[in-house]
Formats: sequence, C-alpha cells, structure tokens
Amino acid sequence: MKSFDYFEPHSLEEAVGLQQQGQGRGCWLAGGTDLLVQMKEHVRQPGLVINLKKIRGLDDFHFDSVTGLRLGALVTAREVETSPLAHQHYAGLARACTDFASIQVRNRATVVGNICRASPSADTLPPLLADDASLCIHGPRGTRTVALEGFCTAPGRTILAPDEIVTHVLVPAPAPGTAKVYLKHGRREQMELATVGVAVSLTMSRGRCSRLGIVLGAVAPTPLRVPTAEALLLDEEPTRDRVHAAAAAAAQACQPISDVRASAGYRRQMVEVLTRRALVQALEVLR
Ligand SMILES: Cc1cc2nc3c(=O)[nH]c(=O)nc-3n(C[C@H](O)[C@H](O)[C@H](O)COP(=O)(O)OP(=O)(O)OC[C@H]3O[C@@H](n4cnc5c(N)ncnc54)[C@H](O)[C@@H]3O)c2cc1C
Repeated sequence: MKSFDYFEPHSLEEAVGLQQQGQGRGCWLAGGTDLLVQMKEHVRQPGLVINLKKIRGLDDFHFDSVTGLRLGALVTAREVETSPLAHQHYAGLARACTDFASIQVRNRATVVGNICRASPSADTLPPLLADDASLCIHGPRGTRTVALEGFCTAPGRTILAPDEIVTHVLVPAPAPGTAKVYLKHGRREQMELATVGVAVSLTMSRGRCSRLGIVLGAVAPTPLRVPTAEALLLDEEPTRDRVHAAAAAAAQACQPISDVRASAGYRRQMVEVLTRRALVQALEVLR
C-alpha cells in the first residue's frame, strides 16, 4: 500500500480544512470496509486519509414520529439491524442491514459509507430511495440537504465534491398504513453482494394505494426507481392483475448486465419475480 498521511479531526470544520489543505487528495474514512480494500488493491491511492470517527454528533440515531429518522454518518449496519425502532418503522432498511455481508463487517460498515460508495448493488440504497430519504451534506460553503435520488450518478460516483462530508441521512416518518419490504437475491445467504435487490415502500388508504416506492438494485448503473411500475398501482386497488402488471413493468424498465454473478436475462426475470413477491408481502403486512 502506498504511504499516506492520516488524521483524526474532532470537528467538521477541521475535517473540511484538512481536505482543502490536501487539495482534494484525501479520502474520508468511516468503517473502512470499502476504502481499505480499495487501497490494498491499489484501486485508490489517497495522499491523506481523514478518519471521521472522532467528530461529535455523527453517531446520532434518532426517530421521531413526526420528523422521521435521523441517522448519523457513523451509524453502522449492525446498529440498524439490532434497532427495534428500525424494524418497526423502516423494515426495508432493517432487512437490508441484516442481509448485509457478515456480522464482523456489519459491526464496522456504516450506512452512509454504503451510500457514498455508490455501488449499483449497495443494499441500503433501494430501501432508502423507496422511502424518499435525503442527505445532509457539510462542506466549505456550509450545509445543504439533497434528495438521495440523484445522489449516485454512476457506479462509484456521486454528486459530492471532494471536500464535502455526508453528515446524516434523513428518512420521512411513515404514514399510517405503510409497509416496507426489501428482498435481496444472491447465490448464497451470507457474504454475498446482491444479484438483484428490490425494495418496496407502500402506503394504503381506504383500500387504495396512496403512496408507493419501488426501487431496484444491481440491475442498472445506479439503483433504479421505477415510476412506470408505481403508476400502475397508485390511486388504485392493488388487485392481483395490477400487482403482476407492475412487476412486469419493473422488469421492462431495468437495465441489467451479465457478469460473474448472473446473466442479464436471469436478472431481468428475477426483477419481475421479486417485485411481485415484495408487493404481495407488503400487502400481506397490511392485511
Ligand atoms: C467482505 C465484505 C462484504 C461486503 N458485503 C456487502 C453487502 O452484502 N452489501 C453491501 O451493500 N455492501 C457490502 N460490502 C461493502 C461495504 O461493507 C459497504 O459499502 C459499507 O457500508 C461501507 O461503509 P464503510 O463505513 O466501511 O465505508 P468506508 O469504506 O469507510 O467508505 C466508503 C466510501 O465512502 C466514503 N465515505 C464514507 N463516509 C463518508 C461520509 N460521511 N461522507 C462522504 N463520504 C464518505 C469514503 O471516502 C469511501 O469512498 C462488503 C464489503 C466487504 C469487505
């Protein structure tokens, strides 16, 4: 591994200042489960590594029934997995954090690190997108909040400038009558990246679907929300035919590739199966 300078700032301002002194050659370090692997494999060779662990306030994990969920940049997958609040109100995210890697990795890996890595198969992105999450970003010009949708622009790429830090993820409070499901499909149950991931966040009101998020993982360069599938159920009674039509529309919309894990054709078929299954499971939760 190439040598690098290492810092542990105590505030966001100090962290941003270090990154500016390093003229953008630095990398933020959270759990290190992606970054250190990339450095060992010479995929990334930062001149400085800036550990976020000692910055106060980034370990926030707070739920409020009006404002929703606030997850700091240091909250790990394991903390979400073991949180009864997450399971109760954000079942898709809690499932994604449970089906993630191994317990050793989940103890270190942060949800925000998973978002910022911007992998097409990142497990936390589909459920967070289905829930309309947003991100708080701190940089030299202050703080801004952006929708998570549009944050990832290509595999491994985001809209973040090098001197910006994601400080929190915000997820709206679920409306009454909401169910959330995340289904991950891989070749084995543990230590496996998703071949296909499907997240559904569905709200029913007076027998009709009043809100719906359907998001697909690992079948496009970035996680893909499918409004064409959502439109087939929105404001409608979710009959069997409509659920099947929405699943077919999701399969139609995805842009899978063939790689070592699966062929494009298999992925497309699994999108249809898993979307149908996720919708049925969400409706069963609400029965
Ligand atoms: C064995 C193994 C199995 C894995 N299995 C899975 C899996 O099943 N599913 C899955 O989705 N992923 C998996 N991963 C990938 C990885 O664990 C996750 O992406 C993890 O959530 C990354 O979080 P981290 O805290 O370790 O990030 P780090 O490695 O510290 O950082 C990742 C990237 O995000 C940037 N970053 C981190 N925090 C911030 C911040 N606050 N603001 C701006 N940029 C930031 C870093 O600079 C770096 O570019 C696996 C990894 C390993 C090694």
